Amino acid sequence: MAEECLFCAIVAGSVPATRVFENADVLAFADIDPQAPTHVLVVPKKHLRDIAELGADPQCAAAVVAGVRQVVAELGLEQFRTVFNTGPEVGQSVFHVHAHVLSGRAMGWPPG
Ligand code: AMP
Ligand code: ZN
Repeated sequence: MAEECLFCAIVAGSVPATRVFENADVLAFADIDPQAPTHVLVVPKKHLRDIAELGADPQCAAAVVAGVRQVVAELGLEQFRTVFNTGPEVGQSVFHVHAHVLSGRAMGWPPG
């Protein structure tokens, strides 16, 4: 666990979150400031900073993608957007890699 990492604290249970799915490798929980009717974050339990670090750990990367699959299956989502923000300029604010899973409203492309 990285010190002073919000998502490590959520994984550890010391910060509350609305848990959607959990297994040995990943945790999914509701985003506190939802940007769509469904907005879930899928995080590896292991602290990795961003998708670049995640990609260097193929086993963990596969677990995160499988976690996304599990979440959308459990919530019955047929259409959804998955986003990994990397770096503050594009909106990363928590430096523990997370997949945003957004669904339930129309979304344009490209994003603003
Ligand atoms: P990003 O800006 O891509 O790093 O995403 C971080 C996300 O974490 C944002 O969408 C925040 O709304 C969300 N967030 C921040 N604090 C919490 C929290 N305590 N519980 C759940 N989601 C959070
Ligand atoms: Zn962390």
